Amino acid sequence: MNQTQKIINQVQKEGRKALLETEAKTICAEYGIPVTKFMLAKSEKEAATQADQIGYPVVLKIVSPDIIHKTEAGGVIVNLKTATDVAAGYKKILENVAKYKAEAKIVGVLVAEMAPQSTEVIVGAIKDPQFGQTVMFGLGGIFVELLKDVNFRVAPLTADDAKEMIMQLKAYPLLNGYRNTPPADIDALVAILCNTSHLIMDYPEIKELDLNPIMAYSKGAKTVDARIILE
Ligand code: ADP
Ligand code: MG
Repeated sequence: MNQTQKIINQVQKEGRKALLETEAKTICAEYGIPVTKFMLAKSEKEAATQADQIGYPVVLKIVSPDIIHKTEAGGVIVNLKTATDVAAGYKKILENVAKYKAEAKIVGVLVAEMAPQSTEVIVGAIKDPQFGQTVMFGLGGIFVELLKDVNFRVAPLTADDAKEMIMQLKAYPLLNGYRNTPPADIDALVAILCNTSHLIMDYPEIKELDLNPIMAYSKGAKTVDARIILE
């Protein structure tokens, strides 16, 4: 059995709806959606060893079924540059989370490769009551939140559908290169949209998917945060 099926079975067996970031990213990787390198640490010492393996700088993030918005809980620390800082960061995250939600069950702390800053895009999937499984694409931050500059297509998507979703954004010129920002790798984003479409078509039990943000580079792209919710 593949990883995706195994993870979904396990989550359902545990009576959960929301996948952990580690679970969601393992599924993404299996479907060819690029994600930041990551490992799951269960102690300060383990976090430091894993950071050495991944390479600096790293990001630490709380992994808990009871914490959906990690930043809000003080559960994200970025740009850690030494093993000592990683060990201290691990401790700090657990303290922050304990203050935020004392009863939260802690699975561990994700140690992730720090993705260089770039243009941020978002890929989402929902089940529309009328049209069924639908994929969404937009640019990160204010473009989605304030300007609602997003495009939707009903799955399954062809590569042409995906390309249109990207190119028909009002903010598309930002992806096509401006001032000091080189053009984003549109083919890499098309591949992410098509692979997301494959995933949700294969697993209709996925109610929501949220890759937010994805860093779009001049070569390739990398998913920094992934959420998947089951029905
Ligand atoms: P949440 O959305 O649950 O608060 P995220 O994983 O999205 O948590 O982290 C919050 C922010 O931290 C991201 O939007 C991104 O700007 C930054 N971030 C998180 N992980 C990484 C990473 N691996 N590389 C670079 N930046 C990151
Ligand atoms: Mg996020």
